[in-house]
Amino acid sequence: TCPLDALLMEVVEEQQLVAKEKEITLTLNLVDPPLEIEPELQENWFTLLGNWDQLVRLCTNLIGNALQYTSTQGEVQVELARLSGVRYGVACLQIKITDTGVGIPPESLPRLFDRFYRVDPARTHQSRETTTGSGLGLAIAQAIVEHHQGQIQVDSIVGEGTTFTVILPITLEY
Ligand code: ATP
Ligand code: MG
Repeated sequence: TCPLDALLMEVVEEQQLVAKEKEITLTLNLVDPPLEIEPELQENWFTLLGNWDQLVRLCTNLIGNALQYTSTQGEVQVELARLSGVRYGVACLQIKITDTGVGIPPESLPRLFDRFYRVDPARTHQSRETTTGSGLGLAIAQAIVEHHQGQIQVDSIVGEGTTFTVILPITLEY
């Protein structure tokens, strides 16, 4: 089992070094469980059945991208929430990573998760520091999400920012 709250705290803490260097505000928001639920469930609110190392890689790739493709003095917000209720069928955890970065043009979205795909830097007016990378990070992220039977989705506006949303089923009885 894997506590995603502890995992995200570790990853965010590690990435604070990068954020500080670029004067980017990096925050983590854990959306608290409702007060009325039992202590046992409170304790396991953010725990799912999953592979710690893979999920660290997933979160590191997404938060790393958010920092890389956001210019100095921007903002990166990470939010972890538990989704429940009939609408979602099984209980799920949702990670949202929102940045105020360069954004992704709509025509690039269909190929974004392809191996080696990178948005042409000229298209999004990226600075030199954002022009290196292998184009594998998101392909790996998607494979990890699929391995956990989850979903990954991206919303972006060029010049305003990008949000990656990952939804992972808990697949544990709590
Ligand atoms: P690496 O393999 O080192 O991560 P990369 O960052 O180029 O290289 P991916 O992480 O797969 O590769 O991302 C693919 C492309 O998607 C990036 O080159 C970039 O153009 C775009 N991209 C990814 N995340 C963001 C983001 N948060 N904001 C803007 N563009 C992004
Ligand atoms: Mg990357």
